[in-house]
Amino acid sequence: MASLLRPAPRGLFSWRGYCSRGTQGRLSAGFVEALKAVVGSPHVSTAAVVREQHGHDESMHRCQPPDAVVWPQNVEQVSQLAALCYGQGVPIIPFGTGSGLEGGVCAVQGGVCVNLTRMDRILELNPEDFSVVVEPGVTRKALNTHLRDCGLWFPVDPGADASLCGMAATGASGTNSVRYGTMRDNVLNLEVVLPGGRQLHTAGRGRRFRKSAAGYNLTGLFVGSEGTLGLITAATLRLHPVPEATVAATCAFPTVQAAVDSTVHILQAAVPVARIEFLDEVMMDACNRHSKLNCCVAPTLFLEFHGSEQALAEQVQRTEEIIRHNGGSHFSWAKEAEERSRLWAARHNAWYASLALRPGCKGYSTDVCVPISRLPEILVQTKEDLEAWRLTGTIVGHVGDGNFHCILLVDPEDPEELLRVQAFAEQLGRRALALHGSCTGEHGIGLGKRQLLLEEVGVVGMETMRQLKATLDPRGLMNPGKVL
Ligand SMILES: Cc1cc2nc3c(=O)[nH]c(=O)nc-3n(C[C@H](O)[C@H](O)[C@H](O)COP(=O)(O)OP(=O)(O)OC[C@H]3O[C@@H](n4cnc5c(N)ncnc54)[C@H](O)[C@@H]3O)c2cc1C
Repeated sequence: MASLLRPAPRGLFSWRGYCSRGTQGRLSAGFVEALKAVVGSPHVSTAAVVREQHGHDESMHRCQPPDAVVWPQNVEQVSQLAALCYGQGVPIIPFGTGSGLEGGVCAVQGGVCVNLTRMDRILELNPEDFSVVVEPGVTRKALNTHLRDCGLWFPVDPGADASLCGMAATGASGTNSVRYGTMRDNVLNLEVVLPGGRQLHTAGRGRRFRKSAAGYNLTGLFVGSEGTLGLITAATLRLHPVPEATVAATCAFPTVQAAVDSTVHILQAAVPVARIEFLDEVMMDACNRHSKLNCCVAPTLFLEFHGSEQALAEQVQRTEEIIRHNGGSHFSWAKEAEERSRLWAARHNAWYASLALRPGCKGYSTDVCVPISRLPEILVQTKEDLEAWRLTGTIVGHVGDGNFHCILLVDPEDPEELLRVQAFAEQLGRRALALHGSCTGEHGIGLGKRQLLLEEVGVVGMETMRQLKATLDPRGLMNPGKVL
């Protein structure tokens, strides 16, 4: 088998050593033939354009293409691919839809990118148990389309139409998580192909229970593992009933503090708000222009309530009282589906609205999360820092979770501005840590936040993570260079 790889110059991981000197290693023709023998010729590519497409995500991290891309069609093929690559010391990089924002799919040491989008079946729907089993290529929109007629839905919504297993891999969340939780709360079981090819069912094969006290929480270990521990080949997900009625609203505030105070008071009053999103005045202005809205250019909350007609009337009344008490104004309620979609489409297009502020620039999104009581402080500091660092940025956030994004606009041809953006993002991460928060609420660590992870979890936390990684992936070939 060793002959399947090009002769390597030196060392235990010499193939990787060869790649890490800056030139992408090339797989031997024999190795590529072995990949084709597993998945079939049409499902393997070494074409430069295909490798380039798979060497980057939506982030600003430099494109680092893999040496080959493969599209397995079932879990047995994934197992065989993992065994083949692992046996040969070839890095394995799982690929969902490439919508990640932390460079998670960059092939920093070359290797084989395993694109899982051709495994896209919904394997099992159990409406009476509120659960569904999906293959890794199923996206959240495809799942919700499939569920349309059964009165259930999957609420975790990162904006992009990401793959559900990619979302499990990054521990994703989004606008609905204040009410329905993140991927961590909504994954019941995972089927994972471990680096050497063995298949693991994190909660036991076929199990879909809501609670268990049986041993270590292996499902929790793999949610957020960013492809560094294994390839997720199926996920059992928790579903929720579609609410009887929905109302959305926007309202403007005189200050950031007033908007956040309202959020805290709404949560303290136990109003079961389904979405509560903050947009600063720069973001609101950008959304008005991009999505043809006519909202007041001020710190703004976008809200949504789910429930019965009667429950909604109470929630809306209580919320209005709280918001008025905090100086909120310019209420606009949207009851019709079309009107609500327009509002939320504008919120979901916030990234593109931000990019339109400086045409030709790229976006870089931070995603710190702090205890909600510290949110006004960090938002105000962030706005001051933007000015001090002479950067253009919008602020938008899942304020009910204490999580917000500062979307920075940067000219990719300006190395000095790139450095300033990087320094600003690091400083923001450290501010969040100092306020008992996290450097990443939802995008993950990927390539760029490894130092901040160390500062967040401490030396012993990091060592424990490294030991777990070494146990599952002793050769360090699963998505190397990420997280740790
Ligand atoms: C406009 C925009 C808005 C966004 N907003 C949000 C948001 O609000 N909240 C949020 O959480 N995210 C957000 N994201 C980021 C992104 O959508 C999520 O990180 C998503 O979970 C990535 O899923 P994916 O399928 O695209 O994964 P990819 O980008 O393909 O991969 C991401 C990581 O997961 C690994 N991976 C992928 N699939 C698997 C698998 N089957 N098994 C093991 N590892 C795997 C990859 O190796 C990589 O490390 C946004 C992205 C964009 C472009």
